[in-house]
Amino acid sequence: MTSTRRHILQAGLFGGLGNLLSSSHAQTTTVPAKRVRGIVFMVSDGMSHGVLPLTEALSQQTRKRSTRWWELLQSPGSVQGLMDTASANSLVTDSAAASSAWGGGQRVPNGQINVTDKGRKLEPIGVTLRAKKCRLGLVTTATVTHATPAGFAAVTPNRDDEQSIASQYLDRAEIVLGGGSQFFDPAQRKDKSDLFADFAKAGYEILRTRDQLLAARSPRLLGTFTSGHLPYSVDHSNDESLAKMVPTLSEMTDAALKRFLTGDAPFLLQVEGARIDHAAHANDVAGLLGDQLAFDDAIATVLATLAGRDDVLVVITSDHGNSNPGLNGMGSSYGRTNQHFSRIAGIKASHERIFAEWNAKKGGTAELTALVQERLGFKPTDSEAATLLDTMSGKPVPEWNHLLANPPGILGQIAGNHTGIGWTGTVHTADMTLITAVGPQAERFHGLVRNDSVHGKLLEMLLS
Ligand SMILES: [Zn+2]
Repeated sequence: MTSTRRHILQAGLFGGLGNLLSSSHAQTTTVPAKRVRGIVFMVSDGMSHGVLPLTEALSQQTRKRSTRWWELLQSPGSVQGLMDTASANSLVTDSAAASSAWGGGQRVPNGQINVTDKGRKLEPIGVTLRAKKCRLGLVTTATVTHATPAGFAAVTPNRDDEQSIASQYLDRAEIVLGGGSQFFDPAQRKDKSDLFADFAKAGYEILRTRDQLLAARSPRLLGTFTSGHLPYSVDHSNDESLAKMVPTLSEMTDAALKRFLTGDAPFLLQVEGARIDHAAHANDVAGLLGDQLAFDDAIATVLATLAGRDDVLVVITSDHGNSNPGLNGMGSSYGRTNQHFSRIAGIKASHERIFAEWNAKKGGTAELTALVQERLGFKPTDSEAATLLDTMSGKPVPEWNHLLANPPGILGQIAGNHTGIGWTGTVHTADMTLITAVGPQAERFHGLVRNDSVHGKLLEMLLS
């Protein structure tokens, strides 16, 4: 693979600046592009632009240091671009269509994995790579069969058919790590097939706990550490049993990348921080920023592992915006903004966990106020608690933004009164997403990049 680069000969050879700027003295030469042995494609799912500065501020507040993505934005060695994210049927994509654009090379309708609007099946990149002896890895905090990993290795008109997606991974993806054991379990599958046994027969080491992952020795791994999605980081770090059983995204990424760096085969490793998207749907700022910090830890692990190498490209991006969180200026001259923001660090549970706890015990406004105060660290007003109780009881509440007229939207707004965080809705948005690329041929991701052009770039680099 070669690329054409314009080299302007030194001014001294031609005796002056005028000559330097003259196109007649510019010489075009062809230089070989740096070889790409492997690509780590990192996706912070549903990460709107506003998430990055909020995560940086939280990291500075709680860890007294910068995030790695923030540092990369200031690094002269990294390339920045913007992803144009639409799908075949909408200006707003879902993760199925977005990952199909990357993994299949064409925009498809939302809800479908590598199946076009005409019903044509696209070959997922995992199949193309497999035929060329290139290894594929899928690491995620969602079920491993969720839309973003599936777009690289599966074909189905229905993204929710995770049982079918699970069986398609066999021999296509050599490392599969995340949640979703239910889709491999014969007792829970409609066809009763034992996918754990099938994968084990094909040489995969089957992992169900963090300790098993850390002790694993095989080159091929199938690790499913929960029945559904992995827990949010804010819940993971506040629950000893979860922390013991479930690895972090960084630990899973480390296990996958080290295996791919062994030997000479080319590889594509997708790493997804999946629940940034889920937290945005839930208008849950602690869930969102906790998982974005965990995603950033995975970036740090990748960059540390690749230090000193020049043959692995790292691409960091998102598939779409979601609910576009932002920090509002609070108080006179916005002087209370920082105080509001600092309360996020005191939140001890995701909204998902708060709703689950409430549904398990229920009660009146006094009990709800106590639960919110204990988990979120601030006391809701009487009217906030009453409105939240009404919406959770299915009663209509005064809310002109219909996207927010539901328990997540109301709890998100109540939390926003105390933290300063506002949300546009509880759904995906059409925003362009940020791309940061570092490593060989990173310049391919400079500027505006259509999501369906990524597939060709990945294949050109890995198969040339
Ligand atoms: Zn989503």
